[in-house]
Amino acid sequence: MRCPNCKGKDIGKIGTNQYYCWHCFIELSIVNGRYSLHQVEEDGSLSSLDDLFEDEDMSVESG
Ligand SMILES: [Zn+2]
Repeated sequence: MRCPNCKGKDIGKIGTNQYYCWHCFIELSIVNGRYSLHQVEEDGSLSSLDDLFEDEDMSVESG
């Protein structure tokens, strides 16, 4: 899998269907075959980044 944001592969698994991109520091969840992206704010809260991406960027590709 690749990060939809930076296209990097430096992604670690943090839970069931939950991943973290160490390159751009965003949290990735996989819901129904699609990525859901969240940025961790300084206060620890999460803000959704889904609106910033096109549908094709959010689909989970095999490989
Ligand atoms: Zn990234």
